[in-house]
Amino acid sequence: MVMPRNSVPRDARIGTDPFRPLHAGPPLSSSESDLVGFASPEGFDPVLRAFLHQAADLLCDWIGHASERMPLPPVRRQPDIAPSLHGAGMQGLLSDLQLVMEGAYQPSHPGALAHLDPPPLTASIAAELVCAGLNNNLLAEELSPGLTQLEQQLCRWFAARLGLPATAGGVLASGGTLSNLMALVVGREQIDPSSRQQGVVVCSRDAHVSLLKSVRILGLGDQALLQLPVDADGCLCVEALEAALRRLEDEGRPCLAVVATAGTTVRGAIDPLKAVASLCRRYGVWMHVDAAIGGVFALVPSLAGPLEGIAAADSLTLNPQKLLGITKASSLLLLRHGSLLKQAFSTGLPYMDQPSGDHHGGEVGLQGTRPAEVLKLWLGLRQLGERGIESILRNALDRCDRLCRNLDDERLLLYRGSLHLVAFRPLALSGEARTQWSIDTRQRLFEHHFMLSRPLYDRGPCLKAVLGNPHTTVAHLDHLADLINASVI
Ligand SMILES: *Cc1c(COP(=O)(O)O)cnc(C)c1O
Repeated sequence: MVMPRNSVPRDARIGTDPFRPLHAGPPLSSSESDLVGFASPEGFDPVLRAFLHQAADLLCDWIGHASERMPLPPVRRQPDIAPSLHGAGMQGLLSDLQLVMEGAYQPSHPGALAHLDPPPLTASIAAELVCAGLNNNLLAEELSPGLTQLEQQLCRWFAARLGLPATAGGVLASGGTLSNLMALVVGREQIDPSSRQQGVVVCSRDAHVSLLKSVRILGLGDQALLQLPVDADGCLCVEALEAALRRLEDEGRPCLAVVATAGTTVRGAIDPLKAVASLCRRYGVWMHVDAAIGGVFALVPSLAGPLEGIAAADSLTLNPQKLLGITKASSLLLLRHGSLLKQAFSTGLPYMDQPSGDHHGGEVGLQGTRPAEVLKLWLGLRQLGERGIESILRNALDRCDRLCRNLDDERLLLYRGSLHLVAFRPLALSGEARTQWSIDTRQRLFEHHFMLSRPLYDRGPCLKAVLGNPHTTVAHLDHLADLINASVI
């Protein structure tokens, strides 16, 4: 191993144990005590290295023992919350971290199938660590020169892969809720300012709750979200959409946006994007596609079929955190005309010089200071490669097919779309009996180390499995199907 020159042995400055609490030993000058938690800028810092190595060992151990434990810890101890008077040394901090790990949800357990929260990719974990070390700020180009450019370029790469035109651009956001909100803000900018307060957002009944939050934040009120029926497959009814758009036009109420969902949260249904696009064009309405779940499938031509029409979107949300293993948070908002983001959000940012590139990262969205979330997305995709991306998606679909094939469809009603998730409930039960089944079955599955979720759908609770966990084997799936089938005998 090569040790960098000018390595300053930390111990020489602050005693033999660099991690001892500040009150021990001879008094420190204030400048030294200020330095205790910071790595030396004058050479390779062995303290930083020791801390990172030991924290990394704890993490590797936590992930490496995932399958022996449970998706959710049976008991949880909380570490002390408040900082102690003199601060803690490394061993104390590591044991704090250990406690937090022991009480955490474990996405790498093969039975963790409840939500769209898969295990993290190794490159994504490493990139997140480096991101913290760089501590750059996507607010402004001068605080993140290379990373600002990386974000802009990666957004353009995504846009091109999804078939958006060369005018497209985008921005990363800390979650799909923010991406959806920003899309609706841009959509609102496109309508006559005098009628914005009457604006309506149209989506299906199965659309994500973030749209309800968005209309509230936009000051429009809950009734501004017009939720239309879905068909038997969970897809937005095109006839209902057409009728709604006609009625809004007759009433002179502006539609800020039609939101088509590409991958609904409970069953992974994809709204008919082509038909929605042609109605949006006919009525001159902004088309947002909430592809938080399904968008990644459009990256792979052989899997993109159900997403046909996605390239007609004016704006589009896509969450790589939900399936590809990019660590949280990782969401993108893409726009057909990227410059509209700046029009909607820029303030001139008077504390900063003009950027040399397209824009400051804080001028094209809601967030100001934000981390370089692009790093873990970019490095994760680089690690996977085209083949890796395709195999994650294909295997998730295959696992879902396998589970569904084995479920007893004489006794269970399955709610599926064309993605890797499925919700289900007993055909014969309703009301209280259905609720009790969902509680008891979820508990019984927990006892067998499977974690499913219990969403409300179609007038009552269901159970839902998301098959995005690459550690789930055929044997796990078959065991899971047996347990579920046994719950309805
Ligand atoms: C998860 C989800 C979102 C919101 O994403 P967050 O990252 O949780 O904010 C939006 N739309 C759909 C369809 C989703 O499933």
